[in-house]
Amino acid sequence: MKPFKVRLRFHGDLNVFLRSEAGDAVIERPLAEKTSIKDVIESCGVPHPEVDLILVNDHAVDFDYTLVNNANVEVFPVETRDTALAEKRLQLIGTTRFVVDGHLGGLARNLRLLGFDVAYLKNADDLQLLEIMIRENRALLTRDRRLLMHGIVQHGYYPRSQNADEQTIEVVRRFDLSKLIAPFTRCLRCNSLLEEATKAQVIDRLEPLTKIYYNQFRRCPDCKQIYWSGSHFAKLQKRIEEIRSRI
Ligand SMILES: [Zn+2]
Repeated sequence: MKPFKVRLRFHGDLNVFLRSEAGDAVIERPLAEKTSIKDVIESCGVPHPEVDLILVNDHAVDFDYTLVNNANVEVFPVETRDTALAEKRLQLIGTTRFVVDGHLGGLARNLRLLGFDVAYLKNADDLQLLEIMIRENRALLTRDRRLLMHGIVQHGYYPRSQNADEQTIEVVRRFDLSKLIAPFTRCLRCNSLLEEATKAQVIDRLEPLTKIYYNQFRRCPDCKQIYWSGSHFAKLQKRIEEIRSRI
């Protein structure tokens, strides 16, 4: 087979993944055998779950498209989504179920605070994360780029920021979740949906002042954690408002 050249241009913030080839968002790859577009894109450092639209010589293609000749490739992230080529988009938005890497505990907690269904095990290894992702049909959130490139990952996201609140805003935007936020509906500790509890049901577990000042309670049916609108609640409320105001 005659060697050929593929010229890839990465749009939006996909350049954060590029192995700084002069900081340019354009990369040339010489190829000597037929290669899938997905492999070429990932060889540039961009995980496939970050890619929402691929144009090869101006035609939209899927990840299994095979390159055999010289080609110009345009690669777009989810953020540039508009109505154009809607049916050719490769990523799912609107997912509310996630599995979160053990290094992103703050993000996991924030997403639960907003009411989203988050599997999180602090010490889960890569294999466990992938198993939970497949078994429970969740999108993977991780800053481990290699893990995100694993062939069985369908939907996922690499938070750009190292800050949990910023990461939360990124995830809400990426998966278009702003209308689905339901604060204080899920247990921050174990992810179960909270249920209303009467004061009588929880009174023997309350501190003296809490007994006096609060009348409305929620309880986790699984880990039995009790929630009420105390000072901690006010802080969480503030955090939710800050996140919401920036989405
Ligand atoms: Zn719980």
